[in-house]
Amino acid sequence: MTQATPTLKTQAGELADAGTAAKPTTDAGTAAKKVFVKTYGCQMNVYDSERMGDALSRDGYQPVDSVEAADLVLINTCHIREKAAEKVYSQLGRLAQLKKKRNSEGGDLMVAVAGCVAQAEGEEMVRRAPVVDVVIGPQTYHRLPGALAKACNGERVVETEFPTEDKFDRLPDATAGRIRTRGVTAFLTVQEGCDKFCTFCVVPYTRGAEVSRPVERIMSEAERLAAAGVREITLLGQNVNAWHGQGSDGREWGLGELVHRIAAIEGIDRIRYTTSHPRDMDDALINAHRDLPELMPYLHLPVQSGSDRILKAMNRRHTAAEYIRLVERIRAARPDIALSGDFIVGFPGETDEDFEDTMRLIREVSYAAAFSFKYSIRPGTPGAGMDGQVDEAVKSERLTRLQALINEQTRDFGRQCVGKIANLLLEKPGRNTDQIVGRSPWLQPVIVDAKTGKIGDIVRVRIKQTGSNGLFAEPVGTESANQGATSFDS
Ligand code: SAM
Ligand code: SF4
Repeated sequence: MTQATPTLKTQAGELADAGTAAKPTTDAGTAAKKVFVKTYGCQMNVYDSERMGDALSRDGYQPVDSVEAADLVLINTCHIREKAAEKVYSQLGRLAQLKKKRNSEGGDLMVAVAGCVAQAEGEEMVRRAPVVDVVIGPQTYHRLPGALAKACNGERVVETEFPTEDKFDRLPDATAGRIRTRGVTAFLTVQEGCDKFCTFCVVPYTRGAEVSRPVERIMSEAERLAAAGVREITLLGQNVNAWHGQGSDGREWGLGELVHRIAAIEGIDRIRYTTSHPRDMDDALINAHRDLPELMPYLHLPVQSGSDRILKAMNRRHTAAEYIRLVERIRAARPDIALSGDFIVGFPGETDEDFEDTMRLIREVSYAAAFSFKYSIRPGTPGAGMDGQVDEAVKSERLTRLQALINEQTRDFGRQCVGKIANLLLEKPGRNTDQIVGRSPWLQPVIVDAKTGKIGDIVRVRIKQTGSNGLFAEPVGTESANQGATSFDS
C-alpha cells in the first residue's frame, strides 16, 4: 500500500459515495486528503466505489460532497448507457478547467477514472483527456492507491488488464464504522463477469469472464456486515444466479444453498439478489423462495424481448415460452413474488410483430417494475454490425408504449398491496421529520410515522395507500417482527 503523496496536502480520512458529508479535518485537527466520488451505473458499481473507498480510507482520504472541495476526483463509470464515453469526456473537460485554475493558484487536482468506460477506453483516455492521472478497470481497482502514488510522481497510470490475482483478496475489509455509515442494508458482490455474450452487451468485454467468489470469503463479509448492524444484504453479480462454489460440506453449492447459509447468520433478516439470468434459475433457488422467509419475494429476471426471433439474435438462449414457464414455476413456489425485468426495444431486425410479441409477454407475466431501453450500439459487440438497425423514431415510439404498459402494471401492483400486512425494514428518515421510510418485502419504499420505530427495526405494518413514489402504511400492534418475511390478511 502506498503512502500519501506530496501534491495532496492532507492526511487521514475516508472516502464514500458522492453525496456523503464532508469531514474536512482529522481528529488531530490537521487538514485531510479529500476525495469526491461520482458513481454511475448499477449496484455493482456502487459496491465497487465502496470498496475503493475502503482502500483509499486506509491511505488517509476523507469524502467530500463537491468537486470543488476535493484533492482527488474519482469517477466510477458505466458503459451501459448510450454515448457513455462521450459523457465521461465532457466531464473530464470541465475537470481540466478546474485543474488549470488550481495549478495557476499553486494547487493541484488529481483525477482518476474507474469502471467499464475506463476499461473500454484504456490508453486512449489519457491520450484524449490529459487531465486524467489514473485509468483503472473494474478488475484492477485494488491497485488504485498504488496507481495514485505513481501518478503523484508524474506518471500517467493505466491499469486495465485482467489480473491473475483476486482483487477482493487485496482490498481491505470495510471497518464497522464505515459499514454503519452506509446504513442497515448492504451490497455484497458474490459473482462478477459474464460468459453469456448476449449480442447487444458490452459486459463480457469490460468485466471479463464469469468468476464466483469463494464461499468462505462471502460468508466472512456477510458476518462482518451483520456484526456492524446490517439487516438486509443484496447479493450482486452480473449473473448472480450463476454463482457456484465449494461449500463447507465439500459439495458444490449454487446460489440457493448460499442464501440458506447467509440467512443463518445472526442478524441477517433479509436477503435479495440481482441480476439473474433465466437460464441459471435452478430448482434449489426457486425452492429457496418457497422455504426461506429471509429471502425477499422480489426477483429481477430480465427477458429483453418477447420474440423468439429476436431472443435468438440476441443470443439469450431461451424462448419466450420457456421464460413464461419459468415464471409460472417461480410463482408456484412463491405466489406473492414481485417480478421485475429489463427490456430492449429496437434491437436490429425487430419488426412491429416482434415488438407486439414483447408487449404480449409483458401482459402475460405482469411485472411489478421494469427497466427498459432503446437498443444502442456498443462498439465491438456483434449487434453493432448487424443488418436491420431500427430507426430512432420507431424505437422511441415503441419505448413509450412499453413504458406506459409497465407503469400501469407497477401502479396495479402497488394498488394490490393496499390492505396487506407486511414487515418493513426501516431504512432512513423521511422528507418530513415526522416520517420514516422503510422498504417492503417487494422492494417498494414505504412511508410510516417516525414513531413507528427506529432505523434498523423491522416492523409490522398495514399498507394503507399508494403514493406517487411508494406506499404509505401504519403499524400493526406494537411488537417488532423479527423476520423479513411477508404475511397477508387480505
Ligand atoms: N446480466 C443481466 C441480464 O442478463 O439480463 C443484465 C446486465 S446489463 C448490465 C443491464 C441491462 O442493460 C440489460 O439487461 C439490458 O436490458 C440493458 N442493455 C445492455 N446493453 C444494452 C444495449 N446495447 N442497448 C440497450 N440496452 C442495453
Ligand atoms: Fe450482458 Fe447479462 Fe447478457 Fe451477460 S447475460 S452478456 S451481462 S446481458
